[in-house]
Amino acid sequence: MGPSSLYIHIPFCIRKCLFCSFVIAVGQEHRREEYVNALVNEMKGHEGKRIKTIYFGGGTPSMLDESHLDVLMKAIRNNFTFPNGIEITLEANPESINRAKAEFLKARGFNRISLGVQSLNDRYLKFLGRGHSASMARDAYRILREAGFTNINLDLMYAFAGQTKEELEQDVRAISAMGSEHLSLYTLTIEPNSRFHAVQMKLDDDEKLAGQYLLTARILNGAGFKQYEVSNFAKPGFESVHNRNYWQGNPYIGLGVGAHGFSGQRRYWNTSNLQDYIKRAGRGDLVMEGLEELTNSQLTMEKILFGLRMNEGVPWNIVPSFKHAKIRAWIRDGFLLLEDGYLKTTDRGRLVLDELSSRLI
Ligand code: SF4
Repeated sequence: MGPSSLYIHIPFCIRKCLFCSFVIAVGQEHRREEYVNALVNEMKGHEGKRIKTIYFGGGTPSMLDESHLDVLMKAIRNNFTFPNGIEITLEANPESINRAKAEFLKARGFNRISLGVQSLNDRYLKFLGRGHSASMARDAYRILREAGFTNINLDLMYAFAGQTKEELEQDVRAISAMGSEHLSLYTLTIEPNSRFHAVQMKLDDDEKLAGQYLLTARILNGAGFKQYEVSNFAKPGFESVHNRNYWQGNPYIGLGVGAHGFSGQRRYWNTSNLQDYIKRAGRGDLVMEGLEELTNSQLTMEKILFGLRMNEGVPWNIVPSFKHAKIRAWIRDGFLLLEDGYLKTTDRGRLVLDELSSRLI
């Protein structure tokens, strides 16, 4: 088995954005130190493993202090084996980036920042319950550049109820003009456990969303980005190594509360209760809450579903023959195409990929 990707979940957030349904902890900043110590304990169970990327996701990892990040990076170096220069990403919110933090991150070897901008329209930032304005996002981006970061992802969200074509176009053009190397696109969805769900927020119809998606992809493709996955766009050579690892069905290690991991055959997930996680990991106990052993045919199906998300597609020779008739019908209907031995999703197919995936299983 080759090296894994390493994901570290940092659950802390200042407030809960109205669309968010992630495993997060609001108002728990005082627990950061014990959480970091619990993470270090969990890492010890993986001692000696080889890794190829490191990703701090959240939550808001940039809410950790320099001392916390120092402890974690030292523990990663002590417990895992990895070559110099691997991709090390930290997710950050604009309000938690300042010059000292940015310089510290650069000096400690972080080489990719994923900045949660979401929109450069202050009205929509307020609608989403974000804690920053457009100008704060631009400032954070400039500070990161001045600190020497040459690989920055910006998150862009769209499909807000009532969002006009002009508003979307303005937002996409403004965010792509910032000059980042990577853009991740998020469609606003109403997830259970989110505040939007609690207030029964309604979204615009699917036809409008499909038009917005195609418009966004067209603007980004024309602005020097290349789409390499349904929701991800990069300048040449800046595709996310960490995320591609997930989509290629390779193993990953997940550390922290609610984190998921995959061994190549088994998927596991940790307790999603912060208190429980800190207590168990603090004692050196297992923090795993569930485990699922995947059959070979389940693994193949996952490879196909993830592969169809990426522009490169999946080798036709891994597609089981009993699925051929269904897939050939979708090729005839223009949702998929077969090219040089690879099955790929067309622009039309991307609009209904979730639906195709669920029908394929
Ligand atoms: S969207 Fe991000 S910043 Fe907002 S609450 Fe969720 S994890 Fe925290």
